[in-house]
Amino acid sequence: MDNSIFTPVALPYAQDALAPVISPETIAFHYGKHLQAYINNLNAALPGSGFEGKELEEIVRTAEGGIFNNAGQVLNHTLYFTQLKPAGAESAPEGALAGAIARDFGSFEAFKAEFQKKGAGLFGSGWVWLASDAEGRLQIVQEVNAGNPVRRGLKPLLTFDVWEHAYYLDYQNRRPDHLAALWQIVDWSVISARYGF
Ligand code: MN
Repeated sequence: MDNSIFTPVALPYAQDALAPVISPETIAFHYGKHLQAYINNLNAALPGSGFEGKELEEIVRTAEGGIFNNAGQVLNHTLYFTQLKPAGAESAPEGALAGAIARDFGSFEAFKAEFQKKGAGLFGSGWVWLASDAEGRLQIVQEVNAGNPVRRGLKPLLTFDVWEHAYYLDYQNRRPDHLAALWQIVDWSVISARYGF
């Protein structure tokens, strides 16, 4: 297999499992069309670029222009789709991550409020992130367009996509309502594993 060819990450749930927070129609477009287009664009741009055969994260950290934009969106959507779980009982951080959230934001509720505020307040298209530094200290980072905290030397843990394509079919202009609902489908065991402390 050619390692320079990227493919969409497998969804760890059925396409209708996130409803009513995210409809199967949104997944069909967001995962099936938007993510696929970023992957196709990235694969088409790699030959002769000097980035062939490189790991995705290294491309995101070091590329510029169209290769950065498409690689960033592939990495961002991979992290986004694999952090979600079927709607149902809301999960919460545990262990070291729960302790770090309490230490760095005051409480889990205060963290969620600040995260939603920074997502709602991000002008235009982008992503709001929970990220960790090398010592495990947490921060909330706003990134426009295809931005990812790996560009700042931070480890990305959790992200909400605030591009309109992520929510417009289900929430139209109500981005804050979409962000508030997303907590119902965050799989905090995935976020803890990414944190790694
Ligand atoms: Mn998206």
